[in-house]
Amino acid sequence: MTTTYVDALVAGGGGFIGGHLVADLLKAGKSVRVVDIKPQSEWYQVHPDAENLQGDLSLLADAESATQGAREVYMLAADMGGMGFIENNKALCMLSVLTSTHMLQAAQKFDVERYFYSSSACVYAAEHQTDPNVTALAEAHAYPAMPEDGYGWEKLFTERMARHFREDFGLQTRIARFHNVYGPEGTWTGGREKAPAAVCRKVAEAAISGDHRLQIWGDGEQTRSFMYIDDCVRGIQMITDSDYVDPINLGSSELVTINQLYSIAEEIAGITCERTYQLDAPQGVRGRNSDNTEILRAFDWEPSTPLIEGMARTYAWIFDKVKRAQG
Ligand code: NAD
Repeated sequence: MTTTYVDALVAGGGGFIGGHLVADLLKAGKSVRVVDIKPQSEWYQVHPDAENLQGDLSLLADAESATQGAREVYMLAADMGGMGFIENNKALCMLSVLTSTHMLQAAQKFDVERYFYSSSACVYAAEHQTDPNVTALAEAHAYPAMPEDGYGWEKLFTERMARHFREDFGLQTRIARFHNVYGPEGTWTGGREKAPAAVCRKVAEAAISGDHRLQIWGDGEQTRSFMYIDDCVRGIQMITDSDYVDPINLGSSELVTINQLYSIAEEIAGITCERTYQLDAPQGVRGRNSDNTEILRAFDWEPSTPLIEGMARTYAWIFDKVKRAQG
């Protein structure tokens, strides 16, 4: 078999963030290979200019054939979803360790020049996230370790493994801890969707049906920050191309309550809804924000798309999906 060479492999590129990253890499003139476990019919975006392959990267053989000939690897593949998914599927989330491990081994074997790993704010200890008036999470808060059960432990373990592959084997790993990413062309229904997409879907359904009653998970006073996808894609490439080797936050520092997020979507939709609160629904930590001191210091940049702008673009895309789904 002859090896084909590409500038970049996007592992998990049939997913939300991967689909946008592939578009950006292609736009920058790079040759790109995309591998995902899902059939292409289920990818959020299929870019015809990329080499698009289906493969299960939890298997070493598939990880190796995907990685061979790639100069850079962007490792985004993971079995994941929003809080409703990760709280109820801890074993599945932890099984991503097979994908994470085999991708690192394959990258080492084929002398990949740069290896980006997508970690998460779920690595941070819950004790720092019990108050809606949060102290923003700084990188050092990950230790002593008590991450989100299941998903967060896998992320923290893999961060650690990526560090040791760099220190012991010389593989140039780079790591970002994403804080809630949102935008068009992602999961918007089915149980794996994150808060911004779920909020847009519920408000779009209310706008279309005229039934303006909404059910909100928790009391709506839990706080979060949300990063628009364009900022995420820019940050990934900035971090990958840099000499910054420690895990670094990649998130917005614009903090909102979930109630405020609903109000933003209602404002975009031009409706006001009647809210009821499901206090027994999964709601994750009480408060979470990204401390961007380090990214500002190291890169003189931070994600800055205003929530209202990003939500308007996301709402328009989801509104269209809801409308089509209803025929
Ligand atoms: P996503 O679910 O849309 O994309 C992940 C993709 O990986 C999916 O298309 C999935 O089919 C693929 N995949 C899973 N297992 C695979 C396997 N064994 N082989 C090949 N492909 C496999 O998720 P996303 O939102 O695009 O997230 C990308 C990465 O960023 C993930 O690692 C995720 O944990 C991380 N992250 C995302 C967020 C966020 O808010 N979206 C926050 C923190 C971290």
